[in-house]
Amino acid sequence: MHAELLEPTARYLELLRRHGQRDAWLPAGLMRRLPTASASPTSPQTRETQPDLTSKARPMATPTLTPSGTKTERLAALRAETLQCQICPHLAKSRTQVVFGVGDPEARLMFVGEAPGADEDEKGEPFVGLAGKLLTKMLTAMELTREQIYIANVLKCRPDMPGSTSGNRKPTRTEMDACLPYLRAQVAIIAPVVIVALGATAVEGLFGPQKTTISRLRGTWMELDGVPVRPTFHPSYLLHNQNLALKRLVWEDLLSVMERLPLPISEKQRGFFLPPEK
Ligand code: SF4
Repeated sequence: MHAELLEPTARYLELLRRHGQRDAWLPAGLMRRLPTASASPTSPQTRETQPDLTSKARPMATPTLTPSGTKTERLAALRAETLQCQICPHLAKSRTQVVFGVGDPEARLMFVGEAPGADEDEKGEPFVGLAGKLLTKMLTAMELTREQIYIANVLKCRPDMPGSTSGNRKPTRTEMDACLPYLRAQVAIIAPVVIVALGATAVEGLFGPQKTTISRLRGTWMELDGVPVRPTFHPSYLLHNQNLALKRLVWEDLLSVMERLPLPISEKQRGFFLPPEK
């Protein structure tokens, strides 16, 4: 890590401490380079190995799954419960609103991202910014609309920023662990045929820390509560890396999803984002 990033990292650890987080994972060697204040007894306990995240002492959502009613009614009941959630006091305080999820409760395909950003926090809907526009384009290529699928995040509240600064931060494991039961309840109600996990953080939120990268996980199938999950790159990664080969990799993931649903695939669709023939 560059030396100029040490001080902001120390400030961020202090923010976590003030929000009650008691541990944080840091890359090997970084802890020793931080200013001494961030390693004080009042700061989060920093670890150079992955923390034990199975502790039952951590607050975690325990959604009530309404046993009867249509999917729409059961999802509405879960939404009403989630909107009141205060389990992460710092996020409940900083959020504009809870971003529960949007789409068809009967959807056969569900997309899962990591957390609301500033745009989503304002609108109350996941994937409404630039990355959301790209997701809509990806759906159009699949000949689907946003209304036909369901979109949700692992974390339902926007991760707060130090000093209310703009921008977005990656949610912590503690936050994602606390909120994951809501997403699992959504999956239990909707019962999609396939889930697409968008980006490494969404995969981490769903399955815990991975020993490999999203580049290696994409192209494979994982499973959440019996539902096949296809990890792929986050649309915002595509926005920052505009190359044809990367678009093709994501498209191949979506083709696999279409085969699994199944959805009709034309020859034209099979050829999207292939390099032009010479
Ligand atoms: S992030 Fe999830 S668990 Fe935390 S306050 Fe928001 S809804 Fe509740």
